[in-house]
Amino acid sequence: MSRIAYVNGRYLPHRQACVHIEDRGFQFADGVYEVIAVKGGGFVDETPHLARLHRSLGELRIAPPMSDAALKAVMRETVRRNRVVDGIIYIQITRGAAPRDFSFPPGARPSLIMTARTQRPLDPKIIERGVRVVTVPDIRWARPDIKSVALLPNALGKQHAREAGAYEAWQVDRDGNVTEGTSSNAWIVTAKDEIVTRQADHAILNGVTRLGVLKVAGDAGLKLVERPFSVDEAKAAREAFLTSTTNFVVPIVRIDDATVGEGKPGEVARRLRALYTSFALEGVAR
Ligand code: PMP
Repeated sequence: MSRIAYVNGRYLPHRQACVHIEDRGFQFADGVYEVIAVKGGGFVDETPHLARLHRSLGELRIAPPMSDAALKAVMRETVRRNRVVDGIIYIQITRGAAPRDFSFPPGARPSLIMTARTQRPLDPKIIERGVRVVTVPDIRWARPDIKSVALLPNALGKQHAREAGAYEAWQVDRDGNVTEGTSSNAWIVTAKDEIVTRQADHAILNGVTRLGVLKVAGDAGLKLVERPFSVDEAKAAREAFLTSTTNFVVPIVRIDDATVGEGKPGEVARRLRALYTSFALEGVAR
C-alpha cells in the first residue's frame, strides 16, 4: 500500500506529493510542525499539541491555514487513508510559496502538509535496559521554544549520537547546563528525590509529554523542581530519563561515559512511564 500525504487540499501518494520549489519552508525553514502519537487510531494529547501549534504559528505570525475543526478532520482522514492504528502523524505548516525574499510576502497562502505512518513502540528490552545519551554543545538559534522546521542542529546532534552508539544527544548551553535532547526533554532525579527538568523558557521546547509527566508526577505527590541542571549534576544524579511524544518516558543509564545511579533504570522513571502511559491512553481523542 502506498503511503498517502495531505498536501494543500489534496490526498496524494507520497511519490506524487510535492511542494513548490519556492515554498518558504524549503527555502528558509519558515514554518512550524507538530508530531502527535496515534494510539488505537486516536490522538494522544491532541488539545495541547494543537495549542502549541497555534503558539508556534503566532510567534512567527503565520496565519492558521484552516480552522481547528477542519484540521482535526484532515488529521483523521490522513490517519484513516494510511490505515494507522499505532503510529504518528506529522503536521507541517509553512508561510507558503513566494518569490525569494526574506521579508514576509504579502499575498502568500500558508502551506499545510500532513503525513502519517505506523510506528511500533520502542522495544521493551530497551526500556528495561535503559539508554545512553551523549552531550553536544547546543548550537541552535535562541528560540527553540518555537517548534520550527529549522532542525539542522537537531539532525547533527542525533547523527552524533548514532555514531557514538547512543540513543540521544543532550544539548548543553554555554553555562554547562543541559537544555534538552534533539527530540526529547531531559530530566534527572536528585539524591533528595527531587524530579528536575529545565524550566520552559526560550531555551527549550515545552514538550507536551513534559507537561503530561509534570501533571501525573504532581498528582502522585512527587517533588518537582523546574530549573537548569548541569552535565556534572546529571552524571551524579540518582536517575535520569527523557520524554517525548514518540516514546513517552525512556530511562537513561549512561551519560557520555558516566554511569547514572546503579546503571539500570530507576524507580521514578519506571513509575512515571507507567503513570504517563495510562494518562495518555485515557485521554486519546477520536
Ligand atoms: N524537545 C525537542 C527539541 C523536540 O523535538 C521534542 C519532540 N517534539 C521534544 C523536546 C519533546 O516534545 P514532545 O513531548 O511534545 O514530543
